[in-house]
Amino acid sequence: MCLEIIEKLAARGLKKTPQRRMLLKVLSQSDRHLSAEEVVARIKVQQPGISVATIYRNLNKMVEMELVSKLDLHDGPARYEIYKGHHHHLVCLGCGVALKIGICPLQGHIKKIIEEYGFRVNDHHFEVTGHCQKCQQEAKTDTRLPAI
Ligand SMILES: [Zn+2]
Ligand SMILES: [Zn+2]
Repeated sequence: MCLEIIEKLAARGLKKTPQRRMLLKVLSQSDRHLSAEEVVARIKVQQPGISVATIYRNLNKMVEMELVSKLDLHDGPARYEIYKGHHHHLVCLGCGVALKIGICPLQGHIKKIIEEYGFRVNDHHFEVTGHCQKCQQEAKTDTRLPAI
């Protein structure tokens, strides 16, 4: 597992319990963002005795500590990934892939408006949903699906 993450755990005063280790391992090995159910399923393969409540508790704790980022989707369950700094996503409704975009819209004009309200920002969400190139291609070749 990524050393950097383990160091982060220690720096935040979080104990490196086997469950948390396993959670980070599962998330770091996945090529896409996993839902909580998928995380549970993958951990259960390796640690059948672990309770679902424990996994959920650890997952939430790690989101709180910014070790894991939670991606709230309007469509379908929230998805999780290892926290890699602040960023936003283009989320595919077909395969669930979340493509990172390096720009945060909370700047410029919007930031000015927020300042005018004297508002102190706590958190914000921005996501673009649609279909990735791969899914668009598949929809074109698969005649059973309506064209996008
Ligand atoms: Zn897709
Ligand atoms: Zn942002």
